[in-house]
Amino acid sequence: MSPTTSNRLTGQFALVTGSSSGIGAAVAVALAAHGAGVVVNYSRDAAGADKVVKIITDAGGQAFAVQADVSQEADVLAMFKQATDRFGTLHIVVANAGIQVDAPLLDMTLAQWQKVIDVNLTGQFLCLREAAREFTKRGPQPDISKALGKIICMSSVHEVIPWAGHVNYATSKGGIMQLMKTSAQELAPHKIRVNSIAPGAIATPINLTARDTPAEEKALLTLIPYNRVGDPADIGNLAAWLASDEADYITGQTIFMDGGMTLYPGFADNG
Ligand code: NAD
Repeated sequence: MSPTTSNRLTGQFALVTGSSSGIGAAVAVALAAHGAGVVVNYSRDAAGADKVVKIITDAGGQAFAVQADVSQEADVLAMFKQATDRFGTLHIVVANAGIQVDAPLLDMTLAQWQKVIDVNLTGQFLCLREAAREFTKRGPQPDISKALGKIICMSSVHEVIPWAGHVNYATSKGGIMQLMKTSAQELAPHKIRVNSIAPGAIATPINLTARDTPAEEKALLTLIPYNRVGDPADIGNLAAWLASDEADYITGQTIFMDGGMTLYPGFADNG
C-alpha cells in the first residue's frame, strides 16, 4: 500500500469502518497519506487493525483502532464517542464494512439474508446517521474543509448489476444507492456531502475464492474490459480525492470504479 501523498486532508479526522483489511485498509492508509487522522474500525481482526494503524503511524500519520460491530447500534454509538473523545470531531466517514453470505435464493435462510442486510445496509445507515449528527453538532470549519462533512458509502457494481446466488448482497448494495441519494438530498442544505464508491472486482479477501485458480482469474477478466483486477489502492486514491475540497460540488453520486465492468462487456462483440 503506497498511495500518493498530499496535504489535501490536513487537519481533518476520518473514520473508516471495516478497515482492518482489503479496501477499508487501503482507504484508511490513503486518507492518512493525504493528512487526515484516521479511526481504524474492526469487528474481530484486532491484529489486522493494529497493522493498518502501524503503517499509518510509521509514515508519520495519526491513527488508532476501535472495535465495533457496525450492525449493532450501541457499538456504533460507542465507536463515534471514542473517535470524538480522541480526535475532537470527525470530518470524513467512510461506511465500508461489508460481508457476503452466499446461497441460491431457493436455499437462502432468513438468517443468511438478515446477516448481510444488518451489516451491509443497517450498518451503513447507523454510521451515516451518527456522522451527520456529529457534523451538525460541530458546525462549520471553513479553514479545514468547505463542506461540513463528507460521507462515503462503499457500494458495489452490484447496486446495478443483478447477481444470481447473492440476492442478499445485491439487495444490500441496491439499498445503499437510495440510502446514499436520499441522505444526500436531505443533508445537502447542511453542506454535508454524501456519495458512494462502487468498486468492481478488487483483489481483497472478500473475493479470494473467485480468483483461486488461473482459470477462475481468466473467467473473471472476461467481465472486465480494462483487463485487470482492481487494486485496493485504486479505491483508496479515489476516496481521498472524493473527500477533499477538490470534489466539493459532488454530492448524491455513485462513482463506479470497475475497469468497465458496468459497460456490459458481453455485448462487445454484438452480443
Ligand atoms: P474484506 O473482507 O477485506 O473487508 C470487509 C471488512 O469489513 C473487513 O475488515 C471486516 O472485518 C469488516 N466487517 C465485516 N463485518 C463487520 C461488522 N459487522 N462490523 C464492522 N466491520 C465488519 O473485503 P473488501 O473487499 O475490502 O470489502 C470492503 C467493502 O467493499 C465491502 O462493503 C464490499 O461489499 C465492498 N466491495 C468489494 C469489492 C471487491 O471486489 N473486493 C467489490 C465491490 C464492493
